[in-house]
Amino acid sequence: FNTELQRSEKMEIISELAASVAHEVRNPLQVTRGFLQLLEKKSGSKEKEYLNLALEELDRASGIITDFLTFAKPEIDQVQLLDLADEFRHIEGILIPMANFQGSKITSRIPPGLYVQGNSSKFKQAFINIVKNSIEALREEGQILIWAYAQKHEIVIHIQDNGEGMEPAELARLGEPYFSNKTKGTGLGLMVTFRIIEAMQGRIEFKSGKGIGTEVVVRFPKADGPKG
Ligand code: ADP
Ligand code: MG
Repeated sequence: FNTELQRSEKMEIISELAASVAHEVRNPLQVTRGFLQLLEKKSGSKEKEYLNLALEELDRASGIITDFLTFAKPEIDQVQLLDLADEFRHIEGILIPMANFQGSKITSRIPPGLYVQGNSSKFKQAFINIVKNSIEALREEGQILIWAYAQKHEIVIHIQDNGEGMEPAELARLGEPYFSNKTKGTGLGLMVTFRIIEAMQGRIEFKSGKGIGTEVVVRFPKADGPKG
């Protein structure tokens, strides 16, 4: 009992630390990025090459923070009743501007009354990583559809995009650490997502066709609403 208690206290300290580090590190990274860009504009070709490498590495660092710690909050890893509509409202608040920026569209249909047990920050992180991949896969006339419903004892969530899609060989490697086909990818997003979904006793499934698009289906045990 005692060791368990110490372990959970330790985990609490670690996640608290990670969360504050993420918050604190983001700003200086942004400031550094701004100054490097300024220098890059004024420099010769050799310097430009080095400065571009530095900018790429900075972006890689920011990417790692985004994939792991977008929603990290300095608080205990509490499990609570999550209202799907509320969670997705937050997720969309972050992702819709990102999609609009590149001229794509996100349509979401999450009805009220769908509940799961989980940690709100982790849940949002898991779905941010999925939807962000969809946004990054989109080409012209990009569209993402998100919808959810209850089915027997489960809550089912679909995220569908008409992006570039994947070959079976890529599909088989999803969730593998550092597996990425992007020049600025971390290859950590889905690994984080898979772990969170597993910890919530959920399942995730990908269907994809190269040149057609991708559909992600996530299932969680259905929880009773606040009124039982
Ligand atoms: P990253 O996004 O940093 O590359 P991820 O773990 O999030 O790492 O994703 C791994 C890889 O899976 C991506 O590089 C991409 O090739 C592929 N992938 C994931 N989701 C999609 C999607 N919706 N459409 C096309 N490819 C995808
Ligand atoms: Mg990703």
